[in-house]
Amino acid sequence: MPFCVSKCRYCDFNSYAFTNQNLEQHVDAVLQEARMRIAGLKPQTVFLGGGTPSLLPAHTLARLLCELNTICGFRSSSLETTMEANPESFDKATAQAAMDNGVTRMSIGVQSLRTDVLQAYDRVHSPEDALRAYDNAREAGFQRINLDLIYAFPGQTLLEWKNDLATIQALGAEHLSCYELSYEPGTALTRLRDAGRWQPAKEDTCAEMFSLTREINAAAGYEAYEVSAFAQPGEASLHNLSYWRSLNYVGIGAGAAGWRDGVRRRNIEKPHEYEAAVFAGKDPVAESESLAKPIVLFDHLMMGLRLPGEGVLLERVRRATGLDPLQEYQAEIAALCAQHLLELVDSQQGQRLRTTAQGLLLLDNILVRFLPDEPSLSV
Ligand code: SF4
Repeated sequence: MPFCVSKCRYCDFNSYAFTNQNLEQHVDAVLQEARMRIAGLKPQTVFLGGGTPSLLPAHTLARLLCELNTICGFRSSSLETTMEANPESFDKATAQAAMDNGVTRMSIGVQSLRTDVLQAYDRVHSPEDALRAYDNAREAGFQRINLDLIYAFPGQTLLEWKNDLATIQALGAEHLSCYELSYEPGTALTRLRDAGRWQPAKEDTCAEMFSLTREINAAAGYEAYEVSAFAQPGEASLHNLSYWRSLNYVGIGAGAAGWRDGVRRRNIEKPHEYEAAVFAGKDPVAESESLAKPIVLFDHLMMGLRLPGEGVLLERVRRATGLDPLQEYQAEIAALCAQHLLELVDSQQGQRLRTTAQGLLLLDNILVRFLPDEPSLSV
């Protein structure tokens, strides 16, 4: 759902400021694409993301979910159905419509507990709105809630972050996602930084905050099962795990991405162009790439090494790519294991390659060692 009340300065997602676009019509287009592409699919997980799905009026959200269920039967098949919500639009009626129509997990964009920081990001809600949104989710009956947070804004001290995180932990959400503030190409924040009008936190401070986050989340009972994801026991996101395990998924909607057996596809991004394509009966695909096997192999490593406990199941990679990572990267893996950045471990499902605690801090440097040079094939 590619609309948001306003565009956050750090955001590089396919999202557009809401200026009274016709949301009913957009939902019609999404449902039309779903009819074309996932009829009877019975998905194992569903993720309604954005943008801001909670921007939909409650009755429109209910219609979307209800018709989606008629199309693909997710309510009887899905082990986890997550919806993203932003505090300014997640009222009681929206929470109830989500709960009544099959959403089982709510993910709320809190981002910061400081008003000035939220304003600096151009977010339109207050910390109080975020706490109210959390209460609305609980009152509607949600037993699985994720809260999104961003650390390392300019000037933030370790103590401030520690205190904010403690306040969030005290709410008792089942899952926390703690991201370092990032400067993606083309965002307003990156332009401000490049113009010298925004001073990013120093690298050392970011690294300290990363480690502190893991430490205090662990002490509060949240396992760090991915670089930025923390879950109480049994509360890891099944949907996100499927990305990190490089399993197949379908993306429906403007700009939505999908992955199937080494083929990556992305839909048309602009909502009105996407709608026009769908209403003309066309597949709204913008690009589809059949990736060369070494690139699929790299993709498995890039995603799986984000999971420090689980790592990459080598047999799954061999099945998916026909390549053996231990042979393809014999020298690199031996060197990284000798430096205690990676380790090979045995599990019931087979041998796994995973990052050590130290390796997780240097994940980007590790991945550079595995970069393939074969181009992908566009189709
Ligand atoms: S609410 Fe989320 S998707 Fe929308 S602009 Fe902000 S970060 Fe991007």
